[in-house]
Amino acid sequence: MFRSGFVAILGRPNVGKSTLLNRLVGQKIAITSPVAQTTRHRIKGVVTTEKGQIVFLDTPGFSKPLDRLGNYISDESLAALNEADLFVLVVDASQPPGKGDAWVAEQIKATGKFVILVLNKVDTLKNRQAKLIEHRLQYAKLFEGYPNSRMISLSAKTGRNLSELTEAVIRKLPEGPMYFPEEAVTDQRMREISAEIIREKVLLNTREEIPHSVAVGIESFDESQADLIRIDAVLYVDQKSQKGILIGQQGSMIKTIGIQAREEIEELVEQKVHLALNVKVRENWRKDAVFLKSLGLAPPAAKSPT
Ligand code: GDP
Ligand code: MG
Repeated sequence: MFRSGFVAILGRPNVGKSTLLNRLVGQKIAITSPVAQTTRHRIKGVVTTEKGQIVFLDTPGFSKPLDRLGNYISDESLAALNEADLFVLVVDASQPPGKGDAWVAEQIKATGKFVILVLNKVDTLKNRQAKLIEHRLQYAKLFEGYPNSRMISLSAKTGRNLSELTEAVIRKLPEGPMYFPEEAVTDQRMREISAEIIREKVLLNTREEIPHSVAVGIESFDESQADLIRIDAVLYVDQKSQKGILIGQQGSMIKTIGIQAREEIEELVEQKVHLALNVKVRENWRKDAVFLKSLGLAPPAAKSPT
């Protein structure tokens, strides 16, 4: 049976919600927005496994009112509460519960829906097991007597116990369809789009001087860090003179291109990006089939359907 559903991640600011989401979601959903319109709310990310699919809902403005003990919750956040099949409430395991946590627990209990209480940042308590146990007991009290809850300790930063969370969430989702195609946004697609953005910035800044003689190769696209994507890209040009133009006075041109491209990629992936650009001369690259293929560009004449 395939399970799927909508999940809202709740919790106070700074507990690690974004870090957790970025870690869980191998695919950034930003560029599949046409599909995302099938639901009413903004989608923050999708996790697909063999057993099911988790669609994370955005809950803007939910954590903020909690600081003021819930005097106000935005309509959108309330709607996310209603639409969610399940909640993930994230707390910082190194801190005891606060009034905000008690308040959000009440809101969740009122829905009757299942909640997974995530004690995040367990890595900060490595040598303080007693503290962790003490806080676990205090957090457990928030859902005492409420049958639809469980607790998972993990570290969004180190990745510890993350797969347990994914499995636990899917186990509690209803039977359902795959809302998003599994291959919606693959790493490969992100690479291609990043290359397209960089190429666009080159053309934008150099205009007719570098007409269509630049190719962008993504040498590495490293997502192993939780809060940073490292991209190494090479700009290939036909002639040495073009290399000079691309680099510009004291590197000013390549710097501008890099900044513009990085900012746009960051917006797309909703994450910090480190972008390194290199310029290399490769004569007649447009006629080099092997080279084109290595960039993921099929040579014009030999385009095969596979
Ligand atoms: P949010 O406000 O709930 O979205 O929290 P963020 O994801 O922005 O994280 C707040 C801070 O906590 C950042 O500096 C993170 O790097 C850090 N953080 C998040 N998860 C962990 C974790 O598991 N362990 C540690 N040590 N730090 C974490
Ligand atoms: Mg955040």
